[in-house]
Amino acid sequence: MNPAPPASALQIYQRLLRYLLPHLHLFFLGMIGYTLFAASQAHLAAIMGELVDAINENNTDSRYWIPLTVILISLYRSLGSFLGDYGFARVAFGVVHRLRVDLFNQLTAMPNEYFDRESGGQMISRITFNALQVTQAVTDALKTLIREGLTIIALLAYLLWINWQITLIFLAIAPVVTLLAGVMGRRLRKISSRIQVSMGDITHICSEMINNIKVVRIFSGEPYERRRFHQASKNNVRQNMKAAITAALGTPLIHTIIALALAVIMFLVMTFMNSATPGEFIAYLTAAGLIPKSARQLAGVVNSIQQGIAAADSIFAQLDANTEADQGTLVVDRAKGKIVYNQVSFAYSSSGIPVLKEVSFAAEPGETVAFVGRSGSGKTTLVSLLPRFYSSYTGDIVVDGQSTKALTLASLRQQLSFVGQGVTLFNDTIFNNIAYGCLSETSEQAVIDAAKKAHAWEFIVQLPEGLNTLIGENGARLSGGQRQRLAIARAILKDAPILILDEATSALDNESERNIQTALEAVMHNKTTLVVAHRLSTIENADKILVMDQGEIIERGTHAELIARGGYYAQLHSNNFAT
Ligand code: ADP
Ligand code: MG
Repeated sequence: MNPAPPASALQIYQRLLRYLLPHLHLFFLGMIGYTLFAASQAHLAAIMGELVDAINENNTDSRYWIPLTVILISLYRSLGSFLGDYGFARVAFGVVHRLRVDLFNQLTAMPNEYFDRESGGQMISRITFNALQVTQAVTDALKTLIREGLTIIALLAYLLWINWQITLIFLAIAPVVTLLAGVMGRRLRKISSRIQVSMGDITHICSEMINNIKVVRIFSGEPYERRRFHQASKNNVRQNMKAAITAALGTPLIHTIIALALAVIMFLVMTFMNSATPGEFIAYLTAAGLIPKSARQLAGVVNSIQQGIAAADSIFAQLDANTEADQGTLVVDRAKGKIVYNQVSFAYSSSGIPVLKEVSFAAEPGETVAFVGRSGSGKTTLVSLLPRFYSSYTGDIVVDGQSTKALTLASLRQQLSFVGQGVTLFNDTIFNNIAYGCLSETSEQAVIDAAKKAHAWEFIVQLPEGLNTLIGENGARLSGGQRQRLAIARAILKDAPILILDEATSALDNESERNIQTALEAVMHNKTTLVVAHRLSTIENADKILVMDQGEIIERGTHAELIARGGYYAQLHSNNFAT
Protein backbone atom coordinates (compact mmCIF):
# COMPACT_ATOMS: atom_id res chain seq x y z
CA MET A 1 0.00 0.00 0.00
CA ASN A 2 1.48 3.35 -0.95
CA PRO A 3 0.01 6.22 1.08
CA ALA A 4 -0.33 8.83 -1.64
CA PRO A 5 -0.45 12.49 -0.57
CA PRO A 6 -4.07 13.71 -0.41
CA ALA A 7 -5.12 14.94 -3.83
CA SER A 8 -6.60 18.41 -4.24
CA ALA A 9 -10.20 18.79 -5.35
CA LEU A 10 -8.97 20.06 -8.69
CA GLN A 11 -6.69 17.08 -9.25
CA ILE A 12 -9.50 14.69 -8.41
CA TYR A 13 -11.87 16.48 -10.74
CA GLN A 14 -9.31 16.51 -13.51
CA ARG A 15 -8.82 12.79 -13.11
CA LEU A 16 -12.56 12.32 -13.18
CA LEU A 17 -12.77 14.40 -16.34
CA ARG A 18 -10.26 12.08 -17.98
CA TYR A 19 -13.01 9.47 -17.86
CA LEU A 20 -14.95 11.77 -20.21
CA LEU A 21 -12.42 11.42 -23.02
CA PRO A 22 -14.00 8.34 -24.63
CA HIS A 23 -17.32 10.18 -24.74
CA LEU A 24 -16.03 13.45 -26.11
CA HIS A 25 -18.39 13.45 -29.12
CA LEU A 26 -21.44 13.14 -26.86
CA PHE A 27 -19.98 15.75 -24.60
CA PHE A 28 -19.78 18.19 -27.51
CA LEU A 29 -23.29 17.32 -28.60
CA GLY A 30 -24.44 18.20 -25.08
CA MET A 31 -22.43 21.42 -25.18
CA ILE A 32 -24.05 22.47 -28.47
CA GLY A 33 -27.45 21.73 -26.97
CA TYR A 34 -26.83 23.82 -23.88
CA THR A 35 -25.31 26.63 -25.92
CA LEU A 36 -28.59 26.86 -27.85
CA PHE A 37 -30.42 26.81 -24.54
CA ALA A 38 -28.25 29.58 -23.10
CA ALA A 39 -28.60 31.75 -26.19
CA SER A 40 -32.39 31.43 -25.98
CA GLN A 41 -32.36 33.08 -22.54
CA ALA A 42 -30.56 36.20 -23.75
CA HIS A 43 -32.72 36.19 -26.88
CA LEU A 44 -35.83 36.14 -24.71
CA ALA A 45 -34.66 39.15 -22.73
CA ALA A 46 -34.01 41.01 -25.97
CA ILE A 47 -37.52 40.19 -27.23
CA MET A 48 -39.02 41.56 -24.01
CA GLY A 49 -37.29 44.86 -24.77
CA GLU A 50 -38.58 44.82 -28.36
CA LEU A 51 -42.08 44.13 -27.06
CA VAL A 52 -42.05 47.12 -24.71
CA ASP A 53 -40.72 49.42 -27.44
CA ALA A 54 -43.28 48.10 -29.93
CA ILE A 55 -46.12 48.74 -27.50
CA ASN A 56 -44.73 52.20 -26.74
CA GLU A 57 -44.44 53.12 -30.40
CA ASN A 58 -47.73 51.45 -31.32
CA ASN A 59 -45.87 49.39 -33.95
CA THR A 60 -48.48 47.04 -35.53
CA ASP A 61 -45.95 44.96 -37.61
CA SER A 62 -44.56 43.63 -34.39
CA ARG A 63 -47.89 41.95 -33.70
CA TYR A 64 -46.75 39.09 -35.95
CA TRP A 65 -43.02 38.80 -35.73
CA ILE A 66 -42.62 39.15 -31.95
CA PRO A 67 -44.98 36.27 -31.05
CA LEU A 68 -43.49 34.21 -33.93
CA THR A 69 -39.99 34.82 -32.61
CA VAL A 70 -41.13 33.74 -29.15
CA ILE A 71 -42.33 30.44 -30.63
CA LEU A 72 -39.07 30.07 -32.53
CA ILE A 73 -37.06 30.72 -29.39
CA SER A 74 -39.04 28.15 -27.48
CA LEU A 75 -38.48 25.60 -30.26
CA TYR A 76 -34.71 25.93 -30.40
CA ARG A 77 -34.58 26.18 -26.63
CA SER A 78 -36.40 22.82 -26.34
CA LEU A 79 -34.17 21.23 -28.94
CA GLY A 80 -31.07 22.50 -27.13
CA SER A 81 -32.28 21.30 -23.78
CA PHE A 82 -33.05 17.84 -25.17
CA LEU A 83 -29.68 17.49 -26.89
CA GLY A 84 -27.92 18.64 -23.73
CA ASP A 85 -29.81 16.32 -21.41
CA TYR A 86 -29.42 13.38 -23.74
CA GLY A 87 -25.71 13.91 -24.40
CA PHE A 88 -24.81 14.41 -20.76
CA ALA A 89 -26.89 11.47 -19.56
CA ARG A 90 -24.99 9.17 -21.92
CA VAL A 91 -21.67 10.64 -20.84
CA ALA A 92 -22.51 10.30 -17.13
CA PHE A 93 -23.71 6.71 -17.31
CA GLY A 94 -20.71 5.82 -19.43
CA VAL A 95 -18.38 7.28 -16.80
CA VAL A 96 -20.12 5.51 -13.93
CA HIS A 97 -20.10 2.21 -15.78
CA ARG A 98 -16.35 2.55 -16.36
CA LEU A 99 -15.71 3.48 -12.72
CA ARG A 100 -17.76 0.60 -11.36
CA VAL A 101 -16.17 -1.94 -13.67
CA ASP A 102 -12.67 -0.60 -12.92
CA LEU A 103 -13.36 -0.87 -9.19
CA PHE A 104 -14.67 -4.40 -9.44
CA ASN A 105 -11.84 -5.56 -11.67
CA GLN A 106 -9.37 -3.96 -9.32
CA LEU A 107 -10.93 -5.86 -6.41
CA THR A 108 -10.44 -9.19 -8.18
CA ALA A 109 -6.74 -8.36 -8.47
CA MET A 110 -6.18 -7.20 -4.89
CA PRO A 111 -3.89 -9.22 -2.62
CA ASN A 112 -5.39 -11.25 0.22
CA GLU A 113 -4.04 -8.84 2.82
CA TYR A 114 -6.44 -6.24 1.44
CA PHE A 115 -9.45 -8.48 2.04
CA ASP A 116 -8.19 -9.33 5.53
CA ARG A 117 -7.92 -5.65 6.36
CA GLU A 118 -10.81 -3.85 4.64
CA SER A 119 -14.44 -4.27 5.56
CA GLY A 120 -16.59 -5.88 2.88
CA GLY A 121 -19.29 -3.28 3.49
CA GLN A 122 -16.92 -0.45 2.65
CA MET A 123 -15.85 -2.20 -0.54
CA ILE A 124 -19.44 -2.78 -1.64
CA SER A 125 -20.56 0.71 -0.73
CA ARG A 126 -17.68 2.14 -2.74
CA ILE A 127 -18.94 0.34 -5.84
CA THR A 128 -22.62 1.11 -5.33
CA PHE A 129 -23.08 4.31 -3.31
CA ASN A 130 -19.86 6.18 -4.14
CA ALA A 131 -20.15 5.42 -7.83
CA LEU A 132 -23.70 6.79 -7.69
CA GLN A 133 -22.55 9.98 -6.03
CA VAL A 134 -19.99 10.38 -8.75
CA THR A 135 -22.82 9.99 -11.29
CA GLN A 136 -24.64 12.80 -9.59
CA ALA A 137 -21.54 14.95 -9.72
CA VAL A 138 -21.11 14.16 -13.37
CA THR A 139 -24.75 14.12 -14.51
CA ASP A 140 -26.70 16.64 -12.53
CA ALA A 141 -23.85 18.81 -11.43
CA LEU A 142 -21.89 18.93 -14.66
CA LYS A 143 -25.12 19.43 -16.60
CA THR A 144 -26.27 22.30 -14.43
CA LEU A 145 -22.77 23.73 -14.33
CA ILE A 146 -22.54 23.84 -18.10
CA ARG A 147 -26.15 24.79 -18.81
CA GLU A 148 -26.38 27.54 -16.22
CA GLY A 149 -22.76 28.57 -16.71
CA LEU A 150 -23.36 29.08 -20.42
CA THR A 151 -26.64 30.87 -19.68
CA ILE A 152 -24.87 33.30 -17.38
CA ILE A 153 -22.15 33.87 -19.95
CA ALA A 154 -24.74 34.55 -22.66
CA LEU A 155 -26.71 36.92 -20.43
CA LEU A 156 -23.58 38.75 -19.31
CA ALA A 157 -22.41 39.11 -22.90
CA TYR A 158 -25.77 40.61 -23.75
CA LEU A 159 -25.62 42.95 -20.74
CA LEU A 160 -22.09 44.06 -21.65
CA TRP A 161 -23.27 44.74 -25.16
CA ILE A 162 -26.14 46.96 -23.97
CA ASN A 163 -24.19 48.84 -21.31
CA TRP A 164 -20.75 47.64 -20.34
CA GLN A 165 -20.09 50.21 -17.61
CA ILE A 166 -23.01 49.15 -15.42
CA THR A 167 -22.33 45.49 -16.16
CA LEU A 168 -18.73 45.78 -14.98
CA ILE A 169 -19.90 47.12 -11.65
CA PHE A 170 -22.33 44.21 -11.46
CA LEU A 171 -19.47 41.82 -12.16
CA ALA A 172 -17.42 43.23 -9.30
CA ILE A 173 -19.90 41.65 -6.89
CA ALA A 174 -19.43 38.17 -8.37
CA PRO A 175 -16.18 37.28 -6.52
CA VAL A 176 -17.96 37.70 -3.16
CA VAL A 177 -20.50 35.05 -4.15
CA THR A 178 -17.76 32.75 -5.48
CA LEU A 179 -15.78 33.07 -2.27
CA LEU A 180 -18.78 32.16 -0.14
CA ALA A 181 -19.56 29.15 -2.28
CA GLY A 182 -15.93 28.02 -1.97
CA VAL A 183 -15.96 28.12 1.83
CA MET A 184 -19.15 26.12 1.98
CA GLY A 185 -17.86 23.67 -0.59
CA ARG A 186 -14.82 22.77 1.47
CA ARG A 187 -16.97 22.05 4.49
CA LEU A 188 -19.37 19.95 2.43
CA ARG A 189 -16.54 17.86 1.02
CA LYS A 190 -15.36 16.99 4.52
CA ILE A 191 -18.85 16.05 5.71
CA SER A 192 -19.45 14.15 2.53
CA SER A 193 -16.59 11.70 2.98
CA ARG A 194 -17.90 11.03 6.49
CA ILE A 195 -21.31 10.24 4.97
CA GLN A 196 -19.67 7.72 2.69
CA VAL A 197 -17.89 5.97 5.56
CA SER A 198 -21.16 5.79 7.48
CA MET A 199 -22.90 4.30 4.41
CA GLY A 200 -20.17 1.66 4.32
CA ASP A 201 -20.84 0.85 7.99
CA ILE A 202 -24.53 0.41 7.24
CA THR A 203 -23.83 -1.99 4.36
CA HIS A 204 -21.30 -3.85 6.47
CA ILE A 205 -23.60 -4.40 9.46
CA CYS A 206 -26.46 -5.37 7.17
CA SER A 207 -24.54 -8.03 5.30
CA GLU A 208 -23.01 -9.40 8.51
CA MET A 209 -26.44 -9.82 10.06
CA ILE A 210 -27.93 -11.38 6.93
CA ASN A 211 -25.07 -13.84 6.45
CA ASN A 212 -24.97 -14.87 10.10
CA ILE A 213 -28.68 -14.85 10.86
CA LYS A 214 -28.63 -18.30 12.48
CA VAL A 215 -25.84 -17.42 14.89
CA VAL A 216 -27.58 -14.14 15.64
CA ARG A 217 -30.78 -16.04 16.54
CA ILE A 218 -29.20 -18.79 18.61
CA PHE A 219 -27.07 -16.40 20.63
CA SER A 220 -29.87 -13.83 20.94
CA GLY A 221 -27.79 -11.27 19.12
CA GLU A 222 -30.85 -9.40 17.81
CA PRO A 223 -30.74 -6.55 20.35
CA TYR A 224 -27.02 -6.12 19.76
CA GLU A 225 -27.45 -6.11 15.97
CA ARG A 226 -30.41 -3.72 16.19
CA ARG A 227 -28.48 -1.38 18.44
CA ARG A 228 -25.44 -1.51 16.20
CA PHE A 229 -27.50 -0.82 13.09
CA HIS A 230 -29.48 1.91 14.81
CA GLN A 231 -26.27 3.66 15.76
CA ALA A 232 -24.77 3.35 12.28
CA SER A 233 -27.95 4.67 10.69
CA LYS A 234 -28.20 7.48 13.25
CA ASN A 235 -24.64 8.43 12.55
CA ASN A 236 -25.47 8.55 8.85
CA VAL A 237 -28.45 10.80 9.57
CA ARG A 238 -26.24 13.10 11.65
CA GLN A 239 -23.69 13.47 8.86
CA ASN A 240 -26.41 13.99 6.27
CA MET A 241 -28.05 16.65 8.44
CA LYS A 242 -24.78 18.52 8.75
CA ALA A 243 -24.50 18.55 4.99
CA ALA A 244 -28.14 19.58 4.59
CA ILE A 245 -27.79 22.43 7.09
CA THR A 246 -24.68 23.72 5.41
CA ALA A 247 -26.46 23.63 2.07
CA ALA A 248 -29.67 25.12 3.53
CA LEU A 249 -27.78 28.01 5.10
CA GLY A 250 -25.81 28.60 1.94
CA THR A 251 -28.74 29.01 -0.44
CA PRO A 252 -30.54 31.89 1.38
CA LEU A 253 -27.20 33.52 2.02
CA ILE A 254 -26.37 33.59 -1.65
CA HIS A 255 -29.96 34.61 -2.38
CA THR A 256 -29.64 37.68 -0.13
CA ILE A 257 -26.38 38.72 -1.69
CA ILE A 258 -27.92 38.41 -5.15
CA ALA A 259 -30.91 40.53 -4.11
CA LEU A 260 -28.53 43.22 -2.88
CA ALA A 261 -26.70 43.07 -6.18
CA LEU A 262 -29.97 43.44 -8.11
CA ALA A 263 -30.97 46.43 -6.01
CA VAL A 264 -27.65 48.07 -6.88
CA ILE A 265 -28.26 47.33 -10.58
CA MET A 266 -31.70 48.89 -10.51
CA PHE A 267 -30.29 51.99 -8.93
CA LEU A 268 -27.49 52.19 -11.48
CA VAL A 269 -29.78 51.57 -14.45
CA MET A 270 -32.26 54.21 -13.34
CA THR A 271 -29.46 56.69 -12.73
CA PHE A 272 -27.22 56.16 -15.79
CA MET A 273 -29.46 54.74 -18.51
CA ASN A 274 -31.95 57.62 -18.66
CA SER A 275 -31.25 58.17 -22.36
CA ALA A 276 -32.33 54.62 -23.18
CA THR A 277 -35.73 53.60 -24.59
CA PRO A 278 -38.09 51.84 -22.15
CA GLY A 279 -37.47 48.66 -24.22
CA GLU A 280 -33.69 48.76 -23.68
CA PHE A 281 -34.35 49.47 -20.06
CA ILE A 282 -36.65 46.40 -19.70
CA ALA A 283 -34.36 44.18 -21.74
CA TYR A 284 -31.45 45.04 -19.49
CA LEU A 285 -33.38 44.42 -16.27
CA THR A 286 -34.89 41.19 -17.62
CA ALA A 287 -31.49 39.79 -18.57
CA ALA A 288 -29.97 40.87 -15.27
CA GLY A 289 -32.98 39.41 -13.45
CA LEU A 290 -32.47 36.04 -15.16
CA ILE A 291 -28.92 35.72 -13.84
CA PRO A 292 -29.74 35.06 -10.16
CA LYS A 293 -31.86 32.00 -11.01
CA SER A 294 -28.96 30.48 -12.90
CA ALA A 295 -26.49 31.56 -10.23
CA ARG A 296 -28.59 29.93 -7.51
CA GLN A 297 -28.66 26.68 -9.43
CA LEU A 298 -24.91 26.90 -9.86
CA ALA A 299 -24.47 27.38 -6.12
CA GLY A 300 -26.73 24.42 -5.39
CA VAL A 301 -24.62 22.29 -7.64
CA VAL A 302 -21.47 23.00 -5.68
CA ASN A 303 -22.98 20.66 -3.11
CA SER A 304 -23.22 17.59 -5.32
CA ILE A 305 -19.91 18.35 -7.00
CA GLN A 306 -18.22 18.33 -3.60
CA GLN A 307 -19.93 15.07 -2.72
CA GLY A 308 -18.89 13.60 -6.02
CA ILE A 309 -15.30 14.67 -5.48
CA ALA A 310 -15.23 13.10 -2.02
CA ALA A 311 -16.65 9.90 -3.51
CA ALA A 312 -14.22 9.94 -6.41
CA ASP A 313 -11.37 10.46 -3.95
CA SER A 314 -12.06 7.18 -2.17
CA ILE A 315 -12.66 5.41 -5.48
CA PHE A 316 -9.31 6.58 -6.83
CA ALA A 317 -7.58 5.63 -3.57
CA GLN A 318 -8.71 2.07 -4.18
CA LEU A 319 -7.81 2.16 -7.87
CA ASP A 320 -4.31 3.31 -6.89
CA ALA A 321 -3.79 0.59 -4.29
CA ASN A 322 -1.24 -2.01 -5.23
CA THR A 323 -2.65 -5.11 -6.84
CA GLU A 324 -1.30 -8.58 -6.25
CA ALA A 325 2.38 -8.65 -7.14
CA ASP A 326 2.74 -10.81 -10.23
CA GLN A 327 6.38 -10.46 -11.15
CA GLY A 328 6.96 -14.04 -12.24
CA THR A 329 7.43 -14.55 -15.96
CA LEU A 330 7.74 -18.32 -16.33
CA VAL A 331 4.79 -20.24 -17.68
CA VAL A 332 4.65 -23.98 -17.16
CA ASP A 333 2.22 -26.20 -18.98
CA ARG A 334 1.65 -28.95 -16.46
CA ALA A 335 3.84 -29.49 -13.42
CA LYS A 336 4.88 -32.96 -12.31
CA GLY A 337 4.07 -31.88 -8.80
CA LYS A 338 7.25 -31.93 -6.75
CA ILE A 339 6.97 -29.41 -3.95
CA VAL A 340 9.79 -28.15 -1.75
CA TYR A 341 9.40 -25.68 1.12
CA ASN A 342 12.81 -24.31 2.00
CA GLN A 343 13.13 -22.50 5.35
CA VAL A 344 9.84 -20.67 4.89
CA SER A 345 9.06 -18.04 7.52
CA PHE A 346 6.00 -15.81 7.47
CA ALA A 347 4.09 -13.24 9.51
CA TYR A 348 0.75 -11.65 8.58
CA SER A 349 1.41 -7.96 7.96
CA SER A 350 -1.56 -7.02 10.16
CA SER A 351 -0.12 -8.56 13.32
CA GLY A 352 3.60 -8.96 12.55
CA ILE A 353 3.75 -12.03 14.80
CA PRO A 354 5.70 -14.89 13.19
CA VAL A 355 3.22 -17.60 12.21
CA LEU A 356 5.65 -19.87 10.35
CA LYS A 357 9.25 -20.32 11.46
CA GLU A 358 11.75 -21.79 8.99
CA VAL A 359 9.48 -24.57 7.79
CA SER A 360 11.17 -27.04 5.42
CA PHE A 361 9.77 -30.16 3.79
CA ALA A 362 9.48 -31.83 0.40
CA ALA A 363 6.70 -33.72 -1.37
CA GLU A 364 7.57 -35.95 -4.32
CA PRO A 365 5.17 -36.07 -7.29
CA GLY A 366 2.09 -38.08 -6.35
CA GLU A 367 2.89 -38.12 -2.64
CA THR A 368 0.47 -37.17 0.10
CA VAL A 369 1.82 -35.01 2.88
CA ALA A 370 -0.43 -34.50 5.88
CA PHE A 371 -0.27 -31.71 8.43
CA VAL A 372 -1.60 -32.08 11.91
CA GLY A 373 -1.41 -29.87 14.94
CA ARG A 374 -3.41 -27.73 17.28
CA SER A 375 -5.65 -25.11 15.78
CA GLY A 376 -3.68 -21.93 15.29
CA SER A 377 -0.43 -23.82 14.75
CA GLY A 378 -0.16 -22.44 11.21
CA LYS A 379 -1.40 -25.27 8.96
CA THR A 380 -3.80 -23.18 6.89
CA THR A 381 -1.21 -20.44 6.59
CA LEU A 382 1.39 -22.94 5.42
CA VAL A 383 -0.73 -24.33 2.59
CA SER A 384 -2.01 -20.89 1.54
CA LEU A 385 1.52 -19.77 0.73
CA LEU A 386 1.72 -22.33 -2.08
CA PRO A 387 -0.86 -20.50 -4.29
CA ARG A 388 0.89 -17.29 -3.17
CA PHE A 389 -2.19 -15.92 -1.44
CA TYR A 390 0.45 -14.09 0.58
CA SER A 391 3.83 -13.35 -0.90
CA SER A 392 5.75 -11.61 1.88
CA TYR A 393 7.35 -14.80 3.21
CA THR A 394 11.08 -15.44 3.42
CA GLY A 395 12.72 -18.66 2.30
CA ASP A 396 11.57 -20.33 -0.88
CA ILE A 397 8.74 -22.48 -2.15
CA VAL A 398 9.76 -24.55 -5.15
CA VAL A 399 7.57 -26.49 -7.58
CA ASP A 400 9.36 -28.82 -10.00
CA GLY A 401 12.63 -27.01 -9.33
CA GLN A 402 11.20 -23.53 -10.03
CA SER A 403 10.61 -20.99 -7.28
CA THR A 404 6.89 -20.20 -7.29
CA LYS A 405 7.83 -16.53 -7.36
CA ALA A 406 9.37 -17.07 -10.81
CA LEU A 407 6.05 -18.32 -12.21
CA THR A 408 3.17 -16.10 -13.25
CA LEU A 409 0.30 -16.27 -10.78
CA ALA A 410 -2.01 -17.67 -13.45
CA SER A 411 0.42 -20.42 -14.37
CA LEU A 412 1.12 -21.28 -10.73
CA ARG A 413 -2.55 -21.47 -9.80
CA GLN A 414 -3.31 -23.55 -12.86
CA GLN A 415 -1.25 -26.31 -11.20
CA LEU A 416 -3.35 -26.26 -8.05
CA SER A 417 -6.72 -27.54 -6.94
CA PHE A 418 -8.19 -26.67 -3.59
CA VAL A 419 -10.93 -27.92 -1.30
CA GLY A 420 -11.27 -26.01 1.93
CA GLN A 421 -13.27 -26.16 5.09
CA GLY A 422 -15.70 -23.41 4.15
CA VAL A 423 -17.13 -24.60 0.84
CA THR A 424 -17.61 -21.74 -1.57
CA LEU A 425 -20.48 -22.03 -4.00
CA PHE A 426 -21.99 -19.40 -6.25
CA ASN A 427 -25.64 -18.52 -6.68
CA ASP A 428 -25.89 -20.40 -9.97
CA THR A 429 -26.68 -23.86 -11.36
CA ILE A 430 -24.93 -27.02 -10.20
CA PHE A 431 -23.32 -27.30 -13.61
CA ASN A 432 -21.82 -23.83 -13.42
CA ASN A 433 -20.64 -24.43 -9.88
CA ILE A 434 -18.70 -27.53 -10.85
CA ALA A 435 -17.48 -26.07 -14.14
CA TYR A 436 -16.49 -22.78 -12.54
CA GLY A 437 -14.04 -20.18 -13.91
CA CYS A 438 -11.32 -21.73 -16.07
CA LEU A 439 -13.44 -24.89 -16.28
CA SER A 440 -16.47 -23.23 -17.88
CA GLU A 441 -15.69 -24.62 -21.33
CA THR A 442 -15.89 -28.27 -20.28
CA SER A 443 -18.39 -30.67 -21.78
CA GLU A 444 -21.45 -31.88 -19.92
CA GLN A 445 -20.09 -35.44 -19.96
CA ALA A 446 -16.89 -34.36 -18.21
CA VAL A 447 -18.93 -32.58 -15.54
CA ILE A 448 -21.08 -35.68 -15.02
CA ASP A 449 -17.97 -37.86 -14.73
CA ALA A 450 -16.48 -35.53 -12.14
CA ALA A 451 -19.76 -35.48 -10.22
CA LYS A 452 -19.83 -39.29 -10.24
CA LYS A 453 -16.28 -39.54 -8.94
CA ALA A 454 -17.15 -37.04 -6.21
CA HIS A 455 -20.21 -39.11 -5.24
CA ALA A 456 -22.29 -36.05 -6.02
CA TRP A 457 -24.12 -37.52 -8.99
CA GLU A 458 -26.39 -39.62 -6.78
CA PHE A 459 -28.04 -36.54 -5.24
CA ILE A 460 -27.83 -34.38 -8.37
CA VAL A 461 -30.04 -36.76 -10.39
CA GLN A 462 -32.69 -36.56 -7.70
CA LEU A 463 -32.93 -32.79 -7.95
CA PRO A 464 -35.84 -31.48 -10.05
CA GLU A 465 -33.63 -30.02 -12.75
CA GLY A 466 -30.48 -32.08 -12.31
CA LEU A 467 -27.35 -30.20 -13.29
CA ASN A 468 -29.40 -27.13 -14.09
CA THR A 469 -30.81 -26.75 -10.58
CA LEU A 470 -30.16 -23.39 -8.99
CA ILE A 471 -28.63 -23.87 -5.55
CA GLY A 472 -29.20 -20.48 -3.87
CA GLU A 473 -26.67 -18.21 -2.29
CA ASN A 474 -23.65 -20.27 -1.23
CA GLY A 475 -25.65 -23.42 -1.86
CA ALA A 476 -28.23 -22.63 0.80
CA ARG A 477 -30.56 -25.28 -0.68
CA LEU A 478 -28.04 -28.12 -0.20
CA SER A 479 -26.82 -30.01 2.83
CA GLY A 480 -23.26 -29.62 4.13
CA GLY A 481 -22.18 -32.95 2.67
CA GLN A 482 -23.75 -32.17 -0.71
CA ARG A 483 -22.02 -28.82 -0.85
CA GLN A 484 -18.74 -30.47 0.02
CA ARG A 485 -19.14 -33.04 -2.74
CA LEU A 486 -19.77 -30.28 -5.29
CA ALA A 487 -16.56 -28.61 -4.19
CA ILE A 488 -14.75 -31.91 -4.60
CA ALA A 489 -16.29 -32.43 -8.04
CA ARG A 490 -14.97 -29.02 -9.01
CA ALA A 491 -11.49 -30.03 -7.86
CA ILE A 492 -11.72 -33.35 -9.71
CA LEU A 493 -12.78 -31.58 -12.90
CA LYS A 494 -9.84 -29.22 -12.69
CA ASP A 495 -7.52 -32.23 -12.56
CA ALA A 496 -4.53 -30.15 -11.47
CA PRO A 497 -1.30 -31.97 -10.55
CA ILE A 498 -1.24 -30.51 -7.03
CA LEU A 499 -4.12 -30.69 -4.59
CA ILE A 500 -4.60 -28.80 -1.35
CA LEU A 501 -7.16 -30.10 1.13
CA ASP A 502 -7.61 -27.90 4.17
CA GLU A 503 -9.88 -29.62 6.70
CA ALA A 504 -12.07 -30.52 3.75
CA THR A 505 -14.26 -32.80 5.88
CA SER A 506 -14.14 -31.25 9.32
CA ALA A 507 -17.63 -29.81 9.04
CA LEU A 508 -19.20 -33.21 8.33
CA ASP A 509 -20.55 -36.01 10.45
CA ASN A 510 -18.91 -39.45 10.40
CA GLU A 511 -21.35 -40.92 7.90
CA SER A 512 -20.84 -38.21 5.27
CA GLU A 513 -17.17 -38.18 6.05
CA ARG A 514 -16.86 -41.84 5.06
CA ASN A 515 -18.72 -41.07 1.83
CA ILE A 516 -16.54 -38.16 1.05
CA GLN A 517 -13.44 -40.06 2.00
CA THR A 518 -13.80 -42.24 -1.09
CA ALA A 519 -14.57 -39.14 -3.14
CA LEU A 520 -11.41 -37.50 -1.86
CA GLU A 521 -9.33 -40.53 -2.69
CA ALA A 522 -10.56 -40.18 -6.26
CA VAL A 523 -9.26 -36.61 -6.40
CA MET A 524 -5.97 -37.45 -4.73
CA HIS A 525 -5.21 -40.22 -7.20
CA ASN A 526 -1.89 -39.44 -8.94
CA LYS A 527 -1.76 -35.97 -7.40
CA THR A 528 0.70 -34.41 -5.03
CA THR A 529 -1.52 -33.66 -2.08
CA LEU A 530 -1.05 -31.38 0.90
CA VAL A 531 -3.76 -32.32 3.35
CA VAL A 532 -4.69 -30.61 6.58
CA ALA A 533 -7.01 -32.68 8.75
CA HIS A 534 -7.56 -33.61 12.31
CA ARG A 535 -9.47 -36.88 12.34
CA LEU A 536 -9.04 -38.46 8.94
CA SER A 537 -7.80 -41.88 8.03
CA THR A 538 -6.20 -40.15 5.04
CA ILE A 539 -3.60 -39.05 7.47
CA GLU A 540 -2.75 -42.56 8.49
CA ASN A 541 -2.15 -43.49 4.85
CA ALA A 542 -0.15 -40.36 4.06
CA ASP A 543 3.40 -40.79 2.83
CA LYS A 544 4.56 -38.22 5.36
CA ILE A 545 2.96 -36.69 8.37
CA LEU A 546 4.26 -33.35 9.60
CA VAL A 547 3.26 -32.33 13.09
CA MET A 548 3.09 -28.58 13.59
CA ASP A 549 3.15 -26.53 16.71
CA GLN A 550 3.42 -22.74 16.91
CA GLY A 551 4.59 -22.43 13.33
CA GLU A 552 7.24 -25.11 13.52
CA ILE A 553 7.42 -28.73 12.40
CA ILE A 554 8.11 -30.59 15.60
CA GLU A 555 7.80 -34.18 14.39
CA ARG A 556 7.82 -35.88 11.01
CA GLY A 557 7.47 -39.44 9.75
CA THR A 558 4.87 -41.99 8.73
CA HIS A 559 1.94 -42.86 10.93
CA ALA A 560 3.63 -46.02 12.18
CA GLU A 561 6.92 -44.26 12.88
CA LEU A 562 5.24 -41.47 14.79
CA ILE A 563 3.07 -43.79 16.85
CA ALA A 564 6.14 -45.85 17.65
CA ARG A 565 8.00 -42.78 18.77
CA GLY A 566 5.31 -42.08 21.35
CA GLY A 567 5.69 -38.30 21.07
CA TYR A 568 3.29 -35.45 20.41
CA TYR A 569 1.58 -37.17 17.46
CA ALA A 570 1.00 -40.38 19.38
CA GLN A 571 -0.58 -38.36 22.15
CA LEU A 572 -2.68 -36.31 19.71
CA HIS A 573 -3.75 -39.49 17.99
CA SER A 574 -4.91 -41.19 21.14
CA ASN A 575 -6.89 -38.06 22.09
CA ASN A 576 -8.39 -37.01 18.77
CA PHE A 577 -8.46 -39.97 16.43
CA ALA A 578 -9.88 -42.49 18.86
CA THR A 579 -13.38 -43.37 17.74
P1 ADP B 1 -4.39 -23.47 11.70
O1 ADP B 1 -4.84 -23.64 10.30
O2 ADP B 1 -3.29 -24.41 12.06
O3 ADP B 1 -5.49 -23.56 12.68
P2 ADP B 1 -3.77 -20.79 10.89
O4 ADP B 1 -2.72 -20.94 9.86
O5 ADP B 1 -5.13 -20.54 10.43
O6 ADP B 1 -3.72 -22.05 11.87
O7 ADP B 1 -3.35 -19.61 11.87
C1 ADP B 1 -2.05 -19.50 12.40
C2 ADP B 1 -1.95 -18.19 13.15
O8 ADP B 1 -2.06 -17.10 12.26
C3 ADP B 1 -3.02 -17.99 14.19
O9 ADP B 1 -2.40 -17.47 15.35
C4 ADP B 1 -3.97 -16.99 13.59
O10 ADP B 1 -4.48 -16.16 14.59
C5 ADP B 1 -3.07 -16.22 12.65
N1 ADP B 1 -3.82 -15.79 11.45
C6 ADP B 1 -4.50 -16.60 10.60
N2 ADP B 1 -5.03 -15.91 9.57
C7 ADP B 1 -4.67 -14.62 9.75
C8 ADP B 1 -4.89 -13.40 9.02
N3 ADP B 1 -5.59 -13.39 7.86
N4 ADP B 1 -4.38 -12.26 9.53
C9 ADP B 1 -3.67 -12.27 10.67
N5 ADP B 1 -3.41 -13.36 11.40
C10 ADP B 1 -3.90 -14.54 10.96
MG1 MG C 1 -6.79 -23.96 9.54
